[in-house]
Amino acid sequence: MNNTNRLLGMLAMLVTLAAGTAAAASKLNLVGSTEDLAALAREVGGDRINVDSIARGYQDPHFVEPKPSFVLKLQKADLLVVIGLQLEIGWLPPLINQSRNSKIQPGAAGYLDASSFCHIDEIPVGQVTRAMGDVHPMGNPHYWLDPENGRRIAKALADKLSLMQPADSAYFAGRFADFDKRLTAAEKVWDAKMAPYRGRKVITYHRSWPSFCDRFGLVVVDYVEPKPGIPPSPSHTLELIGTIKREGIRLILVEPYFAIDTPRSIAEKTGGQVVVLLPSVGGVKEVTDYFQLFDYDINMLVKAFAKEK
Ligand SMILES: [Zn+2]
Repeated sequence: MNNTNRLLGMLAMLVTLAAGTAAAASKLNLVGSTEDLAALAREVGGDRINVDSIARGYQDPHFVEPKPSFVLKLQKADLLVVIGLQLEIGWLPPLINQSRNSKIQPGAAGYLDASSFCHIDEIPVGQVTRAMGDVHPMGNPHYWLDPENGRRIAKALADKLSLMQPADSAYFAGRFADFDKRLTAAEKVWDAKMAPYRGRKVITYHRSWPSFCDRFGLVVVDYVEPKPGIPPSPSHTLELIGTIKREGIRLILVEPYFAIDTPRSIAEKTGGQVVVLLPSVGGVKEVTDYFQLFDYDINMLVKAFAKEK
């Protein structure tokens, strides 16, 4: 190789490096309000976007303690994806405000409310009053626990990313098609595992599971919380014990962030079991994607049902 060729080679290498850096710098920054949204964004965004999230999967998503680091994440965001239906109303709006990032304000192009693409349960009819509970005034916001809604969120993300980063639209569409195929295959496995237990009645702590239970054939009879967001009360707990005995209910499903003493004492008095199910990716550290979330929960349920006769 002569000197000119060597110089040209080096130049070509520098150009390639510079292009790589430019591509990395121009990658869209997506922030999900929860780890579930971030997990779905990773499915469709692959290595063409940067993904971060705010609420950790082991936290109650209704009540997240704000931190300065959350504002920094939002300052850098090109796209903010939220669950909506007031799930984040107690903590996210002030953070968005403090970020002073015009791209991600509600109504802006970089603000995506995933609930508008999904099937929502428990939408109140008529006038909403505080008597209905504190935290679900617009319908049930735990809708990501139905894989069909996961599919719809992923599709909405692929479409949104294609609009915002058109050079990669074929890539995002391909990633969505692959996700859709893997999800369909996984649903067959989950359905087969749950098939023997369809129609079983359960109690859940919070109303986190209507979408999940509808999808997998479980019947939610009542809740440990008297109303969504209201802690257990002695009178409701007593009533619940009566219901459980009368209906022969064996499982009480509890989210990892609630105190387990009331569910435990109910289970002791009724001969049932407490099962800690994860409502979110990141609920335990092994559950790092959307598929593992359902794998984990369905395995926990199958194990618990198998212990019963
Ligand atoms: Zn809730």
